[in-house]
Amino acid sequence: MAGLQLEKLEKRFGSVDVIKGVDLEVKDGEFVVFVGPSGCGKSTLLRMIAGLEDITGGTLSIGGKRCNDMEPRERGIAMVFQSYALYPHLTVYQNMSFGLTLNKTPKTEIDARVREAARILKLEPLLARRPSQLSGGQRQRVAIGRAIVRQPSVFLFDEPLSNLDAALRMDMRMEIARLHKELGATMIYVTHDQVEAMTLADKIVVLEGGVVQQIGAPIELYKKPANKFVAGFIGSPR
Ligand code: ADP
Ligand code: MG
Repeated sequence: MAGLQLEKLEKRFGSVDVIKGVDLEVKDGEFVVFVGPSGCGKSTLLRMIAGLEDITGGTLSIGGKRCNDMEPRERGIAMVFQSYALYPHLTVYQNMSFGLTLNKTPKTEIDARVREAARILKLEPLLARRPSQLSGGQRQRVAIGRAIVRQPSVFLFDEPLSNLDAALRMDMRMEIARLHKELGATMIYVTHDQVEAMTLADKIVVLEGGVVQQIGAPIELYKKPANKFVAGFIGSPR
């Protein structure tokens, strides 16, 4: 497990400032949601934490260690994307074990981890299937399983449910909440969906134009929005 610290974090693409000095403390085991309109910098911030995007200013620490220049795989992080990009020719089992096989993890260890992830995600009966034989929700579960088997201390989710229909989204939201409870891992979750943010988060970070507008528990944001933007974004149903 690990907490994170973002200090005056900045990202500039060419001459455009996209992340403009973000300060944030994420506690060990906390569920933090980044929320804000499209283009406000949610994915960029997540990708900076994952090490998929260079940091152009400020400091990022994970588990108390500065990691601005650390390789992605050294950060103890696993990321789950919106498009789950499973290998179509591999089974569910193979999709989940693939990354570990590359890492030369012993076979018995791989098997134990895949079976444990399958148990947690209720994928046990589906291990021999291929992605084309799964529903959208089941595929997203496999993508999450792929992250779980790596035993990361921090999970990053970038709008993982936005490709699913409304009913399934609600189911998966509950699944993710249960997963957080069961694993006790630190999770950072990006969404533009206010309801998702309000129901999942211990702490919400509201972003607009690469600037943090407010950080607080869902109830704080709802009752005491820092400004009109937060009030409009959290308060008004779309
Ligand atoms: P969000 O995930 O909140 O919708 P993004 O983080 O994807 O927003 O994008 C934030 C801003 O950064 C947008 O204006 C986007 O156009 C810009 N941006 C993202 N990636 C790049 C890139 N590789 N080069 C230039 N601009 C980028
Ligand atoms: Mg995005």
